Amino acid sequence: MSSLFDIAGRRALVTGSSRGIGFALARALAEAGAEVILNARNAAALDAARTRLQQVASAPVHTAPFDVTDEDDVRRAIGDLGAVDILVNNAGMQRRAPFPDFATTDFDALLATNVRSVFLVSREVSRAMIERSAGKIITICSVQSELARPGIAPYSATKGAVRMLVKGMCADLGPHGIQVNGLAPGYFSTELTQALVADEQFTEWVRTRTPAGRWGQVEDLAGTLLWLASPASDFVNGQTIFVDGGMTAVL
Ligand code: NDP
Repeated sequence: MSSLFDIAGRRALVTGSSRGIGFALARALAEAGAEVILNARNAAALDAARTRLQQVASAPVHTAPFDVTDEDDVRRAIGDLGAVDILVNNAGMQRRAPFPDFATTDFDALLATNVRSVFLVSREVSRAMIERSAGKIITICSVQSELARPGIAPYSATKGAVRMLVKGMCADLGPHGIQVNGLAPGYFSTELTQALVADEQFTEWVRTRTPAGRWGQVEDLAGTLLWLASPASDFVNGQTIFVDGGMTAVL
């Protein structure tokens, strides 16, 4: 492999990686030779994920069970981890309800899990990156940061906030040799989207609305992630790359 894309031996923390998109991203990093640290709240699910990942990984795989919304937990966990070269802010959640019925508790939970988490984890990890004048922070956004759909206004707002957080962190951390970028998936079948996958009308809408004519498969995200994590993207900063089969390119 060209050294441009070489991330062998780099230490990568992927939040929310016990399943779904996070696990697929962790797997891509592990297969490329990175030393991966898996995170989620459920320690048993994390152990199971580590066992699966160890089957394809050439470098060690670690687990770090902590809640990305809890400041003390994040501080303690990141302090214990040591250097992280690549941070993937992936942990996230979804809540759906028509706008007037959206509960305040759900709005607050979305803000905490999708935005506060990115702020807390990036802040703690970036301190050591600044000392080393190097690091890659990749944050999972969404097509919903660009397109509105009924029933998910607060979710869309959190993903829009995250896109601006990416740009703002780039402004502060770029001068320290750190790249901060976003990766925005289209619709992918995971636990988070189970209700949508089960809805035939919605599933068909995704197919016809997407130029690629299909839902995303988690493996579709690997190439862009590895590029953003590698030296090949060293002059790319503050950008959010959409991996959505063309959904946001067309009306
Ligand atoms: P899943 O629900 O399948 O997985 C979410 C992961 O995050 C789990 O590992 C979960 O583990 C972890 N997690 C949730 N809350 C926390 C927390 N407070 N602290 C630590 N870990 C947490 O989601 P997806 O894989 O579908 O989504 C991953 C990301 O991709 C999210 O940011 C989502 O918004 C985004 N996305 C998803 C799309 C899709 O179509 N699926 C489309 C666009 C964006 P545990 O519960 O044990 O903590």
